[in-house]
Amino acid sequence: MTPATATRPSLASCVGLGVSHGQGEARVDALRDVTLDVPGSSTVALWGPSGSGKTTLLHALGGLVEPTEGTVWWRGEKLSSLDARARGRARAGGIAYVFQGSNLLPHFTSFENVAFARWAAGDPAGHGAAELLELVGLGAKLDSLPSELSGGEAQRVAVARALAQQPALLLCDEPTGHLDSDTGARVLNLIDAAQLEFGFALVVATHDADVAGRYEKTVELEDGRVQAGEKTR
Ligand code: ADP
Ligand code: MG
Repeated sequence: MTPATATRPSLASCVGLGVSHGQGEARVDALRDVTLDVPGSSTVALWGPSGSGKTTLLHALGGLVEPTEGTVWWRGEKLSSLDARARGRARAGGIAYVFQGSNLLPHFTSFENVAFARWAAGDPAGHGAAELLELVGLGAKLDSLPSELSGGEAQRVAVARALAQQPALLLCDEPTGHLDSDTGARVLNLIDAAQLEFGFALVVATHDADVAGRYEKTVELEDGRVQAGEKTR
């Protein structure tokens, strides 16, 4: 942990986290004994090969999967002790995702995708949907359907959609996995610029060491375990 992150209070964390899928012979231990701290406004990469548990860890931090062992904390409360509605409110009140594919609603325009997410998050004060699309450079594509956008444009809409929720924590799962490297770099630059402007904590799952190297802390996963020697810069 860097001195800078050491002084910041924890926003999301997990202690001794284990997540297993399936039972008996079919049981897969996707995560084992994972302890991780995400201070507010910090940037963290989850780095490891395919199947190492990155997606499962992002989902556990966001309350989308139940831990088999251990505890996930969100703003000082045990996430697993909250009931489903309260977990939903925790997500609506502070956690947003950007996935590998943009996962936009196909029959909604760019504007409607962002406005809908903003509405679902309780219409927080701050930037409106059109303003956010301007911010990601898509002011001219408000009325475009996802099928009329390039992969990079669709992913920028997905970033605007996440920002519309005014997250305290943005979880990105291989956000540039489907993009060519130049387009991917532009999307990552955009996410980093938004992180600086809005100050949310950012956790990015990636198999790419160059992508991981952009963030303050890299947590290396292999076979569901955190590897020793967490890197900070
Ligand atoms: P990564 O994102 O690093 O590729 P994942 O978190 O997706 O890794 O997967 C970790 C392990 O858990 C893998 O062995 C994967 O096959 C397994 N796994 C993930 N989700 C499920 C599921 N829903 N059912 C069964 N196994 C799963
Ligand atoms: Mg994954």
